[in-house]
Amino acid sequence: MSEIKINEGEEKRSLNFIEAIVEKDLVEGKNDGRIQTRFPPEPNGYLHIGHAKAICLDFGIAERYNGVCNLRFDDTNPVKEDVEYVDSIMEDIKWLGYSWHEIYYASDYFQQLFDFAILLIKEGKAYVDEQSADTIAKQKGTPTQPGIESPYRNRPVEENLDLFQRMQAGEFEEGRMILRAKIDMASPNMHFRDPIMYRIIKEHPHHRTGTTWKVYPMYDFAHGQSDYFEDVTHSLCTLEFEVHRPLYDYFIDLLQKEDNYRPRQIEFNRLNLTYTVMSKRKLLQLVKEGKVNGWDDPRMPTVGGLRRRGYTPQSIRNFIDKIGYTKYDGVIDVALLEHAIREDLNAKAQRVSAVIDPVKLVITNYPEGQVEMMEAVNNPEDTEAGTHPIAFSRELYIERDDFMEDAPKKFFRLSPGKEVRLKSAYIIKCTGVKKNDNGEIEEIYAEYDPVTKSGMPDSGRKVKGTLHWVSAEHSLPAEVRLYDRLFTVENPSEEKDKDFQELLNPNSLTILTHCRVEAELQKAKPFDNFQFQRIGYFNLDPDSKDGKLIFNRTVSLKQSF
Ligand code: ATP
Ligand code: MG
Repeated sequence: MSEIKINEGEEKRSLNFIEAIVEKDLVEGKNDGRIQTRFPPEPNGYLHIGHAKAICLDFGIAERYNGVCNLRFDDTNPVKEDVEYVDSIMEDIKWLGYSWHEIYYASDYFQQLFDFAILLIKEGKAYVDEQSADTIAKQKGTPTQPGIESPYRNRPVEENLDLFQRMQAGEFEEGRMILRAKIDMASPNMHFRDPIMYRIIKEHPHHRTGTTWKVYPMYDFAHGQSDYFEDVTHSLCTLEFEVHRPLYDYFIDLLQKEDNYRPRQIEFNRLNLTYTVMSKRKLLQLVKEGKVNGWDDPRMPTVGGLRRRGYTPQSIRNFIDKIGYTKYDGVIDVALLEHAIREDLNAKAQRVSAVIDPVKLVITNYPEGQVEMMEAVNNPEDTEAGTHPIAFSRELYIERDDFMEDAPKKFFRLSPGKEVRLKSAYIIKCTGVKKNDNGEIEEIYAEYDPVTKSGMPDSGRKVKGTLHWVSAEHSLPAEVRLYDRLFTVENPSEEKDKDFQELLNPNSLTILTHCRVEAELQKAKPFDNFQFQRIGYFNLDPDSKDGKLIFNRTVSLKQSF
């Protein structure tokens, strides 16, 4: 029995079922107490929040138990893969706050896998099939019905060897033939029905191996062995791979040396979120067809999209902690994710004033040309965050919907004859309005009461409403982008009779171009988070250039639906 050493930085808490398995393995002294995991993305798209869940587990387990986690690119399909994706995946993992021990590529094992395939052919455990993909699929059978054996299944070893080598030499066209494992066409596990090991790909050079290879291993012939070659101790993956596990074990049995080591695969539930899709294929389609503005569009569930939207790594990690790891697939309410970012930003984000739908407010008894610097609290949740100055003057902007001419009794904002407090400034009383020819309000008039200045001894008079505001002259113009759900239904992937694109929310993006923000925001850097008081959490979009300010709404202040 050995004692488990948990990394000093880790808190003691109840374990998830995977940590419990890992601890048991440690107690039993498996793998000499070594912990090694890997995160194995295919570089065929950008990472999404589902991947973040896998990342937190793979890297988290290694951190907690003083092990290592490697990044392994599962790059077995050059048709869909690209270095652009390799780079973005590395960037996203780092942004989430994790670092890998080594970077590996499945393509590093192409020679070893090829040699292993040759060995299997020689042992009569693999054969070259010349039937079409269609025919092979039809012969698979069903879970209750055995499949049909290929007429090529029993061709001589020498012929298989010769054909496979000529496949690699580039003698045959793509799709002309494949290499299959010869296992059992009647197995109750469909993955054992002579699975495909290799296919010919000649038309697409590989991002790392160029045109060296004309045959490429299938994921199922590469993944388990890659784990094995790397000495992975715990291979964590999503539930759909549970039925593949026996096949991985079958191949490893054939590879195994005396030491009896094998990676232990443990499956957990995939993350699905309401009002979005998590399939890389569908996300790629949205990008390619211009339905969103790229992989990092703030409406996308990608790590890049969430980052641009204003999510912090901590909020994503907190969210993933909260939802946990189980053996049951389900769909998580996106409101939980939004709760996590509100909680994080409530503690961290600087409060500022911004008016997103401005209407002019003139304080008629305030001297023209006078400017007072008011003291605005940066974060009431954090006494050390201090204050910043905000200019007050005779002409201000407030939100158009903070004023109502014929207000009902319960309307505690501004209306003729009523009083409100202007946040960090004075109490004012509305005295009238000016309208244009269409009857729209152009200006609102009010008088201020000088003794009610915030922080002054006589400021204590109670009024029901407090409004945010900016000075007309001292504020800056800004664009604000408001985001809504990307899809109109909770679970777009469930609607089988509709193409998922028909379910896109046509109002998922609203751009407001006439907003005003306080001068403090001149200092904002791309991705900085703020709370626009009374409106929500926002961040500065990296598109902000040459003095143009663009803000994304990360999330409203309260859950709105
Ligand atoms: P593909 O359909 O291209 O295989 P994938 O989403 O499985 O897409 P991978 O790059 O193979 O993408 O995923 C890398 C790792 O992330 C895998 O271990 C996979 O199990 C895990 N993963 C992928 N999607 C999710 C998800 N929604 N929730 C949790 N883990 C996920
Ligand atoms: Mg996958």
